[in-house]
Amino acid sequence: MPIRVLPPEVADKIAAGEVVERPASVVKELVENALDAGATQVRVEIREGGLRLIKVTDNGSGIPAAEVPLAVQRHATSKIASAADLAAIRTLGFRGEALAAIASVSRLTLTTRYRDEATGTRLVVEGGRVLHQEPAAHPVGTTVQVEHLFFNTPARRKFLKTPRTEAGHISRMVQRFAFGFPDVRFTLVSDGRVVLRTGGSGRLADVVATLWGTDVAREMVGVGPEVPPWPEAGPEPVVWGLVGKPNVTRPNAQHILFFLNRRWITDRALQQAVLQAYHTFMPAGRYPLAVVHIVLDPAQVDVNVHPTKAEVRFRRPRVVFAAVQKAVRAALVGTAPARPVALEVTWAQAPGWAERGERLRAARGEEKPLPLVPEGDSPAADASPSREASAAGLLPLLRVVGQVGAAYIVAEGPDGLYLIDQHAAHERVLYEQLQAQWLREGHLPAQHLLNPVPVTVDSDLGALLSEHEATLRQMGFIVETFGPGTYLIRAVPAVLSQQNPAQALEDILEGLREDRDRVRETLEERLILHICKRAAVKAGQVLSEEEMRALVRDLEACATPHTCPHGRPTLIHISAADLARQFGRE
Ligand code: ADP
Ligand code: MG
Repeated sequence: MPIRVLPPEVADKIAAGEVVERPASVVKELVENALDAGATQVRVEIREGGLRLIKVTDNGSGIPAAEVPLAVQRHATSKIASAADLAAIRTLGFRGEALAAIASVSRLTLTTRYRDEATGTRLVVEGGRVLHQEPAAHPVGTTVQVEHLFFNTPARRKFLKTPRTEAGHISRMVQRFAFGFPDVRFTLVSDGRVVLRTGGSGRLADVVATLWGTDVAREMVGVGPEVPPWPEAGPEPVVWGLVGKPNVTRPNAQHILFFLNRRWITDRALQQAVLQAYHTFMPAGRYPLAVVHIVLDPAQVDVNVHPTKAEVRFRRPRVVFAAVQKAVRAALVGTAPARPVALEVTWAQAPGWAERGERLRAARGEEKPLPLVPEGDSPAADASPSREASAAGLLPLLRVVGQVGAAYIVAEGPDGLYLIDQHAAHERVLYEQLQAQWLREGHLPAQHLLNPVPVTVDSDLGALLSEHEATLRQMGFIVETFGPGTYLIRAVPAVLSQQNPAQALEDILEGLREDRDRVRETLEERLILHICKRAAVKAGQVLSEEEMRALVRDLEACATPHTCPHGRPTLIHISAADLARQFGRE
């Protein structure tokens, strides 16, 4: 065939394939137009998952009667005038393609009245051909009605899922807009039923409460400034929004949402930034909830990367990444509360509880009254970071009362009872100490052994050992090859000096083997985690009073005392009010 320029209807249909993938894409384009027109109320009505009908009504500016035919023409837009405008897009749309594309694969009725005009206009387009235009009554604003979507593109229609699935896509789409525009009232009606309605209060927390539930909303903390800095977006990203406390988790990342200047975007790197902020707060394989808004000068972003504009390109991605990570982390640190608990704790599961009876009786015989004020602090210790941290309110000063099940420390704080998991708490303490040492000095202190200890490992662990020899050395493990499968341990990390060197090394190599697919942490981080796990006191270890006090004091000094490095809680808080209630004193 000779080369030919395609007729406009064909070109429109091809473009439609890019812009209009499914009913939800139509909803997206129409709602974007409504928001660009300054609407404060947007109503979306669908029938049969949008296949029979999609109707979007807004109270925005409306379209001047004289411009109505242009609106449905390809490359016709009121949002940019020149290529230079592309460098700083402030609206959701700008390609001038959507209405033309939708009209080419459906029957589209546009009814509108411009805010300065007395009468409205109705325009009907079918398969890209304008059928008629007439004056019509309409309040200021616009209604676009799309029927028989894909009637003339059977291939596309065949790929659509059931109406229910398509309705689900539409609902998710409208939810994203609601999170992006908390000051707009959104209503979604599906087959005559209101399935979603937001109040448009302008408060993001209200949107979260409406869409994710009040229980979730209560567990969210604010990120960044209280009021978003719209519309003054500067060259430095401002991050604000709401993120869930670490105790609220989901099995996947679907509840981590990003908005750039209110536009919903997907960005793997930003998701990674949020996950990093939660690092050590959350168990592996669980994900937080987060609504993260980024406000940034449009000149710093290219949104013209993809027709649906869900992916954008930042001019300085690293700066944005760091801003998100820092803001979320700052919101989390210091807000993570001790996990509150209803008094349903049973001690039956405490390890070795049954055998502890005798030890417990012995311990009770030795019980001494403890001073009420944190004990034995020298003036120097008073000025230590531990006191400051407590003053900052991360963890109240705790008075150790005793130990139960050789696994938990019982402590009293200003507001009730605290139960501390000794292993988890010690892991947290060691983790922060080693991490700081590592960052400061680039290595961990080593303890040289008087006599080198031989260790024999399987070939897999041997390979890991050789591969990571240099890093292991930085962590304090100095190991030499001795013979096939046999190695000589010359030094171990100082924190492990009390342990059997061969077992400790094997344990840590096993740990590395197990988590070798974890991409979230660096090798060094993983090693430090394993060393802490190995070095931390175990459940089942009876602690002296001195040891318990030291541990609690160290925990108070932690930057993030409430969780262990794997994200599990280090302590449980039973408030004075809980106690009073349980004892019927209220
Ligand atoms: P774009 O949004 O990229 O400009 P569209 O094809 O979606 O392209 O819309 C074309 C034009 O029609 C817009 O630039 C705008 O001027 C006008 N328009 C479309 N929908 C609305 C609406 N709901 N309210 C006011 N104007 C609208
Ligand atoms: Mg548009």
